[in-house]
Amino acid sequence: MTDNLWDAVIVGAGPAGAVFAAELAHRCPQKKLLLLDGQDREHPKPCGGLLAPDAQKLLAGLHLTLPNTVLADPQIFAVDTVDLQSGQRRLYQRHYLNMDRYAFDRYLLSRVPDTVRIVRARCTEIKEQNGIYTLKTNGGQTFRTTDVIGADGGNSRVRRMLMGHLPYTYTAIQEWYPESADTAELPHYACIFDAETSDSCSWLIRKNGCVIFGGAFAKTGCHAAFEAQRARLEAYFGIRFGTPEKREACPVTSPRRIRDFTPGRPHVYLIGEAAGFISASSFEGISSAMQSGRMLADAFAKGKSSADIFRLYRKNTRGLRAKLLCKIGKRAILCNSTLRFWIMKSGVQSIPRLDGEGIRI
Ligand SMILES: Cc1cc2nc3c(=O)[nH]c(=O)nc-3n(C[C@H](O)[C@H](O)[C@H](O)COP(=O)(O)OP(=O)(O)OC[C@H]3O[C@@H](n4cnc5c(N)ncnc54)[C@H](O)[C@@H]3O)c2cc1C
Repeated sequence: MTDNLWDAVIVGAGPAGAVFAAELAHRCPQKKLLLLDGQDREHPKPCGGLLAPDAQKLLAGLHLTLPNTVLADPQIFAVDTVDLQSGQRRLYQRHYLNMDRYAFDRYLLSRVPDTVRIVRARCTEIKEQNGIYTLKTNGGQTFRTTDVIGADGGNSRVRRMLMGHLPYTYTAIQEWYPESADTAELPHYACIFDAETSDSCSWLIRKNGCVIFGGAFAKTGCHAAFEAQRARLEAYFGIRFGTPEKREACPVTSPRRIRDFTPGRPHVYLIGEAAGFISASSFEGISSAMQSGRMLADAFAKGKSSADIFRLYRKNTRGLRAKLLCKIGKRAILCNSTLRFWIMKSGVQSIPRLDGEGIRI
């Protein structure tokens, strides 16, 4: 084996890539693994940073707890669902953990043993010749491998270059506003629907002294749609967000059909959002990323050949794919204005909203 020929090169060290690398390195310490990642504090993954119960279960299964440095202030127990068109508003219980997403990713990465070489660079090119994949980075480095793991998120270069097909993506845009007297009027966590500006949902999340307002918008005219929705939200709550501290944008996958979920093919495996593993109804993707990372590591540890690894990985992800398919159905219901109107009107599963004196509003 020449120095830069690796057993596997993992592109992306988000939750999927970090969990895969840590699991596989622990189970097969003899494997020569390389992890490429382009993320840093200046270019963090834009995210709401809410850890759903499924992701919490996975951490528990890995005997992991979360250090306080990963948690964000405040912790939240409910989502305030607001429909800007109908004016309806309902409160529903939720069991998320509010986190600093960058700190969470670094925490997962800290579990990757030293035997895995981590290179801070973006993969810019992948070519295959005679079963060997050559990956080039923006730093001018070249690495060769027989197996490529695409863990590079919603805009996966690995999936685009080697598989061709990418699922539908929205442009997710979010702005961070410092807390002010005006934003004190806003809910701690809200899910916003506004059919006039997007056929998807948006969110408001308080985090460490800021309020995040973000949403997913059709690529064409996304910035104008974001601004129009922000103005409508300001009018609804009678507030001004003020000047944002920062604005972030990136593609976010919205799977629409079964073939959007793809585990890849022998020698080129996809995990996390690169495989389309994200909830179409809520954009919750951290749990599926971690889960698919574990599932691929398990397939690698047990598989006797690349065809066998691929077969095992497909088998392992069957339940996950079925669950995410149901989320496509859920999205169709929630994003339908009429159905949403009647669900919210019924008040099913909602929490009574009380005023300062405990009287139901
Ligand atoms: C705005 C927004 C809000 C969200 N909020 C939530 C939420 O609150 N809760 C939740 O569960 N999910 C949320 N999601 C979804 C969630 O962030 C993703 O589904 C999840 O992060 C996917 O994990 P991953 O490891 O597959 O990919 P990512 O987390 O996207 O990680 C990919 C990694 O690959 C790196 N990378 C990409 N391309 C290259 C390259 N060419 N070379 C090297 N490295 C590369 C990136 O820097 C990154 O570190 C949100 C998504 C968006 C866009």
